[in-house]
Amino acid sequence: MPATFDEKDLARYPFLQEAQAKIAGSQLNQLETFLASDVGARIIRRAADRLEAAITIPPQGLNDHFRQSHARIPNALESLYTYGMARIIASCINDRSVIERLISYEARRSSFFLMSDESEETADAEAEKRDAVAAQLGLHLHEGTVTVPAYVEMVAGLREPLWRLVNREVHDGLVRVHATEIEVLLRERIRVVIRARGLPRVPPEVCALLSPAIERLTAIHQAQMLRDLGPIDESRYPPCMNALVMALASGTNLTHMGRFALTAFLHTIGLSTTQIVEVYQRSPDFDIEKTLYQVEHISGRSGTEYTPPSCATMLTNGLCVAQDSLCERIGSPLGYYRKKKGSHPGGRPPSEDAPTPSSG
Ligand code: SF4
Repeated sequence: MPATFDEKDLARYPFLQEAQAKIAGSQLNQLETFLASDVGARIIRRAADRLEAAITIPPQGLNDHFRQSHARIPNALESLYTYGMARIIASCINDRSVIERLISYEARRSSFFLMSDESEETADAEAEKRDAVAAQLGLHLHEGTVTVPAYVEMVAGLREPLWRLVNREVHDGLVRVHATEIEVLLRERIRVVIRARGLPRVPPEVCALLSPAIERLTAIHQAQMLRDLGPIDESRYPPCMNALVMALASGTNLTHMGRFALTAFLHTIGLSTTQIVEVYQRSPDFDIEKTLYQVEHISGRSGTEYTPPSCATMLTNGLCVAQDSLCERIGSPLGYYRKKKGSHPGGRPPSEDAPTPSSG
């Protein structure tokens, strides 16, 4: 008989079809009424806490956090709605880095519960449930294999050589996986599924009702980004950004794209508007009002905070110059800056989940 999922399971694995159906049929559909209720206020608070944990707790600390919160699912349905509400708030924040951190948190949370031995069920029942969840994810783990396309999709975000297809045992279109690798593969598969589903579209008037939580989380995220990046250190600038700064210093006017890339980069690593304007003071056509307007616009005064372009976009625009060996291992100038921090005294290597913002 196929395994059935109770409400606690749905709270633990909210990506399941049964959980999605439960959310779709819930009060979350009449959002404005729901948000004004006592239950709504409680769910918003919990959803904001969930997002805060997603933003601030590093991946290596999450299992402890899940273990502590394991006993604290007093109301499974409310926990499920909290998941739905966290997605609604993330949709309103509309920041790629926040969304990626939430996806990562949810994938780790569900895979933790799937592999946890803290369940009240028997080992057989646990294994049966794990197989049923995995089957919904398109994985048939009891056979110890995964199809090549599913495998390639799952390991796309894993950098260690052991996950590369050329290093795997492959027979008849199936990749052999070992028992010790299952948690990682489940996590990555859940990540793929949640990401593919996207976030709900939320009307602006509903986002306005959530603005206290949104503003609090935006500030927490901004502070966390700066903490992750550490103190500003020019010796970590990638070659392309060094070239742009040097060009300004030598009196060369930058192209529009060059100005955009440099400003977005400097803003993201934590330079203040005044500090960025000072960099442009060296430009021959320096106009303080125009520069201030542009810097504030790119830094988010218009409501959209721009992130630095990817290396591919830099290359297309002729701004990728003087690449060095580190450039081969990163996807954006910001990724370069983050990575270089790991080799600096006092620097902390970037977490595997730290998203690399890029925009075209
Ligand atoms: S590869 Fe990326 S980081 Fe390196 S110089 Fe080119 S754009 Fe900059």
